[in-house]
Amino acid sequence: MGDRWIVNRSGSVVAEFLARELRNSIGGEVLRPHDAQYDAARKVWNGMIDKYPSLIVYCRDRADVITAVNFARANDVLAAIRSGGHNVAGNAVCDSGMVIDLSLMKGVRVLENSRAAEVQAGLVLGELDAATRSFGLAVPLGIVSRTGVAGLTLGGGIGWLMRKYGLTCDNLLSADIITAGGRKLRASADENPDLFWSVRGGGGNFGIATSFTFSLHPVDHVTGGMVLYPLDKAGKVLRFYRDFIESAPDELTTMAALMKAPPLFLIRGLQEEPMIAVHVCHCGSPREGELVLRPLRTFCTPLHHMIRVMPHYEHQSMLDAGAPPGLLNYWKSAYVTSLDDTLIDMIVDNFHRAPSPLTQIHLQHMRGAVSAVEEHETAFSNRNALCVMNIVSKWVDPRESERNIIWTRAFAEAIRPFSSGSYVNFMADEGREGTGSAYSTTHYHRLAALKKKYDPDNFFSLNQNIKPAP
Ligand SMILES: Cc1cc2nc3c(=O)[nH]c(=O)nc-3n(C[C@H](O)[C@H](O)[C@H](O)COP(=O)(O)OP(=O)(O)OC[C@H]3O[C@@H](n4cnc5c(N)ncnc54)[C@H](O)[C@@H]3O)c2cc1C
Repeated sequence: MGDRWIVNRSGSVVAEFLARELRNSIGGEVLRPHDAQYDAARKVWNGMIDKYPSLIVYCRDRADVITAVNFARANDVLAAIRSGGHNVAGNAVCDSGMVIDLSLMKGVRVLENSRAAEVQAGLVLGELDAATRSFGLAVPLGIVSRTGVAGLTLGGGIGWLMRKYGLTCDNLLSADIITAGGRKLRASADENPDLFWSVRGGGGNFGIATSFTFSLHPVDHVTGGMVLYPLDKAGKVLRFYRDFIESAPDELTTMAALMKAPPLFLIRGLQEEPMIAVHVCHCGSPREGELVLRPLRTFCTPLHHMIRVMPHYEHQSMLDAGAPPGLLNYWKSAYVTSLDDTLIDMIVDNFHRAPSPLTQIHLQHMRGAVSAVEEHETAFSNRNALCVMNIVSKWVDPRESERNIIWTRAFAEAIRPFSSGSYVNFMADEGREGTGSAYSTTHYHRLAALKKKYDPDNFFSLNQNIKPAP
């Protein structure tokens, strides 16, 4: 149960009448621990996170965000920012402080002629796809439709269209940001370009994004789905995968996934057995898609293949069932620059020892349009990585937490020599040292200098934090 008092960062109680004033000046809603909806409202996607904020402020518009920021700053109250609530680290909630929740801000406007979309920060990916699909247009987004657009974009945005059209942040034309001082700034190539640079990969360190404008691309149908092989062929499949992605056209984005117990939706009619899947999305012509993907069915006999031409919108939620909210999750990620035999053997060997049958390893192929953007153009680092590897540890029983966390950390440590860094959006509890691993040294120093400029007191501290430069 949350504390009925609002306690600031120095441990003093904030006067109740100030909280009442806040409640009266917010157009959205303010929840306190005694409110009926509080318990559901404090939860995020990752069941490991169990925090009790003193205030949850549901903002309806930008004015509410400014009011909430000003309240937190004036009263020295710790503030967490939440949009989709999908971040594994759980920084979108906090104990004692205030959650500034943008999930009611769901406005979206498609500007068909200029091939752009104006999007408020509370949208989740599926809602944005739903708004653009009838125009046959899409923003490159992530692979699970309930993820928040805001957090995904600010950290980069890896997904099925990235090799053709870039990361989500590469498609950002502008963002409206509320600073720690409660000021509204536009970040774009023309306005505050340094802020624009930092919000394309630097996460939520620089202010609260209330809206984004994205470029849209003509994507209506894709050739997508997956091919499944038995896990005992994992070494062979990953070696084949290495060669297959080497010659993949930019229209094709793929992900190899090792799974102990594939989610039930995958295995209707199949035995539940450990598998390795190659997930695919080809956004070119169906005929080219069929030709390019054929070797996946012929290099060895798969258990099953489920590749077909389908609406892009449908493909975007194909993996949703495998990512239900409430499970206990602990993730680590690593960019890898090559998939040599030693690394492949290490991945397969470690995966066999994963304590939980729900755990998966994902290898998402990057390059293409991701590496066509120069490294210095955005805060996002590691554009030349071949793949981003994600150790997706998940389990049900809290008594198993320690075992799973120890295994995940040990595995991440073992592959560190093969890695050039971590993806900031997949980080768990890496803390200060870990945040540095998401960026090149040059980028990290620039981010710290911009943090000093835009948030010198580190008001936005609940994130993969970049400390202001001294
Ligand atoms: C099942 C699942 C699938 C995923 N798939 C992908 C994927 O395909 N590709 C990918 O790139 N990532 C993926 N992710 C990671 C995801 O991008 C990050 O977790 C991201 O932070 C989620 O955004 P959110 O708005 O839901 O975050 P929240 O949990 O709401 O917030 C996380 C953090 O983001 C910052 N933040 C959120 N909103 C704002 C805002 N409006 N202004 C400023 N800062 C803000 C804050 O620092 C906050 O602590 C996935 C995560 C999950 C759990």
